Amino acid sequence: MEFDVVIVGAGPAGLSAACRIRQLSEETGKDISVCVVEKGSEVGAHILSGAVLEPSAINELFPDWKERGAPLNTPVQRDEIWYLLSKDIGVYVPGPLAPKTFHNHGNYIVSLGNVCRWLAEQAEALGAEIYPGFAAAEILYHEDGSVKGIATGDMGVAEDGSQKDSYMQGMELHAKYTFFSEGCRGHLGKQLIEKFKLDEGKDPQHYGLGIKEIWKVDPAKHELGTVLHSTGWPHTESDSFGGGFCYHLEDNQISIGLITDLGYSNPHVSPFDEMQRFKQHPQIRKVLEGGERVSYGARALVKGGLQSLPKMSFPGGLLIGDDAGTLNFAKIKGSHTAMKAGMIAAEVVHEAITAQDKSGQELSNYDSAVKNSSVYKELHTQRNFGPAQHKWGNLLGSAYAFIDINIFNGKLPWTLTDTKPDHAQMKLAADCEKINYPKPDGVLSFDRLSSVFLSNTNHEEDQPCHLTLLDPNVPMATNLPLYDEPAQRYCPAGVYEIVEEPSGEQRFQINGQNCVHCKTCDIKDPSQNIVWVTPEGFGGPNYPNM
Ligand SMILES: Cc1cc2nc3c(=O)[nH]c(=O)nc-3n(C[C@H](O)[C@H](O)[C@H](O)COP(=O)(O)OP(=O)(O)OC[C@H]3O[C@@H](n4cnc5c(N)ncnc54)[C@H](O)[C@@H]3O)c2cc1C
Ligand code: SF4
Repeated sequence: MEFDVVIVGAGPAGLSAACRIRQLSEETGKDISVCVVEKGSEVGAHILSGAVLEPSAINELFPDWKERGAPLNTPVQRDEIWYLLSKDIGVYVPGPLAPKTFHNHGNYIVSLGNVCRWLAEQAEALGAEIYPGFAAAEILYHEDGSVKGIATGDMGVAEDGSQKDSYMQGMELHAKYTFFSEGCRGHLGKQLIEKFKLDEGKDPQHYGLGIKEIWKVDPAKHELGTVLHSTGWPHTESDSFGGGFCYHLEDNQISIGLITDLGYSNPHVSPFDEMQRFKQHPQIRKVLEGGERVSYGARALVKGGLQSLPKMSFPGGLLIGDDAGTLNFAKIKGSHTAMKAGMIAAEVVHEAITAQDKSGQELSNYDSAVKNSSVYKELHTQRNFGPAQHKWGNLLGSAYAFIDINIFNGKLPWTLTDTKPDHAQMKLAADCEKINYPKPDGVLSFDRLSSVFLSNTNHEEDQPCHLTLLDPNVPMATNLPLYDEPAQRYCPAGVYEIVEEPSGEQRFQINGQNCVHCKTCDIKDPSQNIVWVTPEGFGGPNYPNM
């Protein structure tokens, strides 16, 4: 199938790009056809975010979003920041002492999944075609090496590679320009960055893993519009980093989560168990007690910022949003920057196709347009936040960020770097202390399997495993003896297990059908041996409002 523009991924970046292209088509009368493919069973099914939305991009894209019924129903009323000293004690940080990026006045607490569903409706009304349930599995190239489009994955292939009765060959979608907006650690984006050396001269990308739950709580404990952020405990107990969030959104619901920096070094760390501990802190427990957990999920996020931002253009295509890494970690917000990057990409490509009759060229003016935009400005102003946290830890790093951001407004004449990739931070298991996480109490804390159940994750069972190993011997021969195979702990869905046969022999087992598509294994495997590829379309979590 031929389109002017094909977009991979219906997140804030891809959908904003689709809307903006179609708006420009209407405004100028120069029609550009757009097709969006999304691997989730519906738009929003794979979206997981906090989320406090900064409305700058949506204001620009649809100034009348209120009249159009955008689901931005909860304006932030109050910010609360806590430094958790231990499992019992927390210190309240007065607003003026916190980095100003944590002030959320003017922002909205949302379900980003629902915002994406609404954006998809706008895009379709403007004439974009959106196909959920179709995973872009392969990049197609012209003979000259430029990107020609993508191929969606075949459906109905059995685990042994044979074709089942339900077999349906994937489709080739060709385009003048292809946008890759797969979000953090996109598996096609990763290939493009490598092929076109887009990250040459940049710091490696850095990541965090966000584990999130939605709770319905006692109305007496619910404070609509309150945004709580925390740092310190429980990560301080395992010498790791990160922070928690707790947002009071509509319908007496609480969006609660813990982000663990994937630069941790102790292979015994389990981000899932850190999250379960986090909920036991008195500041959090007091809100959740008496409530009910209704949803669970996990997703990695990019946090390298400006120093890790690759070149975003290459012949025939553009990287947009978190596939490139436009998230501003100093704010823990990437939706508005992803949307803005998508809108810029749309404007550049509309101009290239309609005014210059271009197809398949490298549009490096997209990189310069991003550089002249609000996206670059905020990433530049807050560029030292992430590296400072890695260098000096949460407390000193935040103190540095306060001086750099609040006092000097990012104008200090240096840029901190962070050159060691997260997977290379892992130390040998024998050199690190084991961590005894408490057993789940079934009230506030739970195990992995009952959690994954709440993500409504589903994959067709008889299909090739989408968690591929470059060398099948590495988990048992290298990762187990050296790192006590950390995949058992970093995967928030219990996909990886070391199981013992009746003979006493141990083997590595992959329960691929539980995968919630967070991408952590692709990022954190110390041997870089796990490669996440797209499973059959429709597979994965089915988040209702994450
Ligand atoms: C725990 C957590 C909390 C966060 N909190 C906030 C917050 O409070 N405020 C904020 O602004 N931001 C927050 N963020 C960041 C924000 O969610 C992201 O920056 C934003 O979602 C990026 O948008 P995107 O469109 O680039 O990617 P995504 O939102 O990740 O969307 C990518 C889409 O592409 C699809 N896709 C991927 N690969 C393929 C493929 N090969 N074929 C077809 N479809 C594909 C995915 O299924 C998905 O729907 C948070 C993130 C996390 C993980
Ligand atoms: S298998 Fe990998 S991508 Fe899937 S849930 Fe586990 S860590 Fe995340």
